[in-house]
Amino acid sequence: MSPVWLQIYHCLLAHWGPQHWWPGETPFEVMVGAILTQNTAWTNVERAMANLRAAEALDGVTMGELSDAALADLIRPAGCFNVKAHRLRALCAYLGQEAVLDNPGDLASRAGLPELRRRLLAVPGIGEESADAILLYALGLPSFVVDAYTRRIFRRLGLLADGMSYDAIQSLFHNHLPRDPQLYNEYHALIVQLGKTSCRPQPRCATCPLENRCPRNLI
Ligand code: SF4
Repeated sequence: MSPVWLQIYHCLLAHWGPQHWWPGETPFEVMVGAILTQNTAWTNVERAMANLRAAEALDGVTMGELSDAALADLIRPAGCFNVKAHRLRALCAYLGQEAVLDNPGDLASRAGLPELRRRLLAVPGIGEESADAILLYALGLPSFVVDAYTRRIFRRLGLLADGMSYDAIQSLFHNHLPRDPQLYNEYHALIVQLGKTSCRPQPRCATCPLENRCPRNLI
């Protein structure tokens, strides 16, 4: 276990403080958000969520009863609304299969983390990032979320090689950090904050809390 991975976390946390992720009042809302946020900005997700809330459709039972067209219409602001409606209905079908549609937080009791992850990945439209977001933020299980920000930042920090698979990157985080869901929750949120502010495609290193430890600035 290398202390660097934890030092980076503490440096980001000291700079920005807790990020209070993931926005969502219930495990089901977090699951829905994890699907709606695919390929779109969170502001668009918020508009779709507001529509679902206004229609009182932010629970698995009600959403599962909506027609494809009605659901697609409600989530239109999140983009790719027909595809995402299909994915949300697949999620509802899966939760029904696990007999947790009326209380999706109970999914955590249905199997161990690796098996739950396998089952989520078998749901159409749920990829690795969405599955881990559901496991971590909806169910509180220690599965690190890897996204494009993570790849960009940690490659620049010299901690990832080019072309590494999702699982290989996730294993690095799991191997270098304690298996603590609260730590993973906060760390991923801070990575997103860094990726949106300083470590952008054109990095703004002068504003970055990691400036003094980043190889880009030590050459
Ligand atoms: S110093 Fe620059 S390249 Fe390094 S992590 Fe910060 S913004 Fe990214």
